[in-house]
Amino acid sequence: MFKSKKRKLGLILFLALSMLLAACGKDEKASTTNSSKNALEQIKERDKIVIGVKYDTRLFGLKNPTSGEVEGFDIDISKQLAKEILGDEKKVEFKEVTSKTRIPMLNNGDIDAIVATMTISEERKKEVDFSDVYFDAGQSLLVKKGSPIKGLQDLKKGTKVLAVKGSTSAINIREKAPDATVLEYENYTEAFTALKSGQGDALTTDDSILYGMVDQDPNYQLVGGTFTEEPYGIAVKKGNKELVDAINNALKKMKEDGRYDEIKNKWIKTN
Ligand code: GLU
Repeated sequence: MFKSKKRKLGLILFLALSMLLAACGKDEKASTTNSSKNALEQIKERDKIVIGVKYDTRLFGLKNPTSGEVEGFDIDISKQLAKEILGDEKKVEFKEVTSKTRIPMLNNGDIDAIVATMTISEERKKEVDFSDVYFDAGQSLLVKKGSPIKGLQDLKKGTKVLAVKGSTSAINIREKAPDATVLEYENYTEAFTALKSGQGDALTTDDSILYGMVDQDPNYQLVGGTFTEEPYGIAVKKGNKELVDAINNALKKMKEDGRYDEIKNKWIKTN
């Protein structure tokens, strides 16, 4: 009796341990368990860099439903990072992030870096480390052509402004237009769909992203110019100096040899 109980316990322990091991094996996180290696060494050992990008942001990171590929400025920059760090632009894996999920996904170890229209801000520097600036945007407003809204001054009490959760735009607009009502959405597709279906009077985010929406639907236009500075940076987990240095070196090289301009000219018409 005693012996069989012991055996049962042993069996249960064995099963629990195997399940735990199986779960570890299935873990597809970017960071490996080998914590003695820094992030750059882990990427090199894995021979692949996992980058968080937008999937719904035309011109920067947009999933092409036909090919299944993600395309845009941030995607091309990421491929060149892979080329510089691992010698092959194909050694990159993309994972979808939104403005709200990108920092948690990075700090969770799901991704090695964020290349996703992300502004370098003092607030965010408390949570992640940033590369040098790789693109300059500024916040603006998108409205339907013919709208009475011509700029910030027209965002009055009762005006509904649409923004995306986790973006600097959602924070800035409350400061710049304190009387307006701000409605927040999960991502840019949802926000633009809401604008088109009349759920709001204006949509606010970076001019660079709004140009992508105009590209998609020319019935909409940017108004009022830009009212903030949004310098984009590549974010990595805090304390990964080697990786930040490698990214900065890669950006520098891309700028020097013309690859950066080529990518910029391909995607960005205004600016
Ligand atoms: N650049 C702004 C930000 O980092 C807006 C774009 C975005 O939501 O990614 O929050």
